[in-house]
Amino acid sequence: MDGLMMDYPLTVDHLIERAGRLFPTVPLASRLPDGSISRTTYGEVRRRAHRLAGALRRLGIERGDRVATLAWNHHRHLEAYFGVPLAGAVFHTLNPRLHPDDLAYIATHARDRVLLVDDVLLPALERFRDRAPFEHVVVWSHGDAAPEGTLDYEELIAPEADEIAIPRFDENEAVGMCYTSGTTGRPKGVLYSHRAIVLHSLMSATKSGLGIGQGDVLCPVVPMFHVNAWGLPFTGTLVGCTQVFPGPRLDAESLLGLYEQEDVTISAGVPTIWMGILEALEREPDRWKLEPINMIVGGSAAPESLIRAFDRHGLNLIHAWGMTETTPLGTVSSLKRALLDLPEDERYAIRAKQGLPSAFVDARVMGPAGEAPWDGETMGELEVRGPWVAASYFETPDLADKWSPDGWFRTGDVATIDADGYVKITDRVKDLIKSGGEWISSVDLENALMGHAAVREAAVIAARDPKWDERPLAIVVLKEGASATADDLRGYLEPKFAKFWIPDAFVFVDEIPRTAAGKFLKSALRDRFGDELAKGS
Ligand code: AMP
Repeated sequence: MDGLMMDYPLTVDHLIERAGRLFPTVPLASRLPDGSISRTTYGEVRRRAHRLAGALRRLGIERGDRVATLAWNHHRHLEAYFGVPLAGAVFHTLNPRLHPDDLAYIATHARDRVLLVDDVLLPALERFRDRAPFEHVVVWSHGDAAPEGTLDYEELIAPEADEIAIPRFDENEAVGMCYTSGTTGRPKGVLYSHRAIVLHSLMSATKSGLGIGQGDVLCPVVPMFHVNAWGLPFTGTLVGCTQVFPGPRLDAESLLGLYEQEDVTISAGVPTIWMGILEALEREPDRWKLEPINMIVGGSAAPESLIRAFDRHGLNLIHAWGMTETTPLGTVSSLKRALLDLPEDERYAIRAKQGLPSAFVDARVMGPAGEAPWDGETMGELEVRGPWVAASYFETPDLADKWSPDGWFRTGDVATIDADGYVKITDRVKDLIKSGGEWISSVDLENALMGHAAVREAAVIAARDPKWDERPLAIVVLKEGASATADDLRGYLEPKFAKFWIPDAFVFVDEIPRTAAGKFLKSALRDRFGDELAKGS
């Protein structure tokens, strides 16, 4: 050993080994499909993760093989997050909301050898199992016998030892895998290394990251199949805090009930979840007695109005940005000390931005003329690099141009960076509206519209226009019982935007189509409404 420091690998097995040893009695709670709560501890999760690893080896799983999960958030899923790596394999989370054709494609492309599946998701599995390569299907059941052709998880791990010998892993080995659920093209696989997950967990735990400590009660609402629930189950295990898993019940009342009952202090989810929770709180403000909760919001832009509204309920929304390719945390919006004295409106405007790049994440905005200045105005494609940013897609060499020649990842998001370093996402590259050569941010318009008292949701798309090439068109869902006309909404936007930004038309619909990850499916909206202006309606 002649280096300066010891060669100690940053590997995921350390997280559960440490939690099992230092925090063996810290409780973990999972809500089951029937609404009841199942409780366990880190000591127990560690023992069962070892048993799972032993069982996977017995099934013939070898170093680097993929073991898939198709499951909601619960502690047995956490056991797989650690048990699969302890066996030297790669845990690959499948998203049950995807179309069966996509699931068949993803499982085949990843060459998943074993699947761990929730009994409540067996119907979803049946729709693609005959096209998937699984050699064994293991069922997380709630009492029923495993159906024919499957193995019961509890029976599988029962004969195994509580502790197996863990080989020394290389920190750059793959440990996890997730496919992006983009709105165009084939899903693309990202392999996470041990090192990426460990460094990401350390950064997330910091106060300037997401601020998670041992005394917290962490409730990841964001699914464990979506970028590892933003890495939170790993971060929670790293710090040894209590974790509360909501299972399949993601409606506002179930979540609020769980927050109250389990004294949750930190949670995370997409804006749609928080909008539902806000509606419930506004309906019955005194019903739930909550701790002060830090609520991380990401996945899509959080409207400023949402952040303001939660403050009125004493709940703190923290806006963050990331991607499957970035493990996911890229930026987090918290106010620098020097900005705390700004007028309220300016403070909210900053909190509504996506935030400062995390430590070890470099960010730049690239326009046609090279790197854009940090002036908060010049838009261009956001590029990032860092130790938890993917360097390639799994076995997809034709997408190498997603990385710049000097090694930055091209996010496909359009952004500005201001003089203080705050990144603001203004669009996806493909959703940006180009009107008469000028760029218009659909996201800014959507967020402003969602601040109108009558508007539940709004999506703005580029509609074809013979004169300007493209013009903004707003698709609006009104709140139940509320009313607003196109003129009302136009009048509401006019003071906030340049004249040429105001949408040419407002279409009212009952629902906005979404992707499997809960984001607006703008391609479907463009197919349906893209020619609306040309029609003259
Ligand atoms: P995914 O890989 O499915 O997590 O999607 C990543 C994409 O979601 C990013 O490239 C952004 O387009 C979008 N996204 C994530 N977080 C935010 C955010 N806070 N604001 C706006 N868009 C976001």
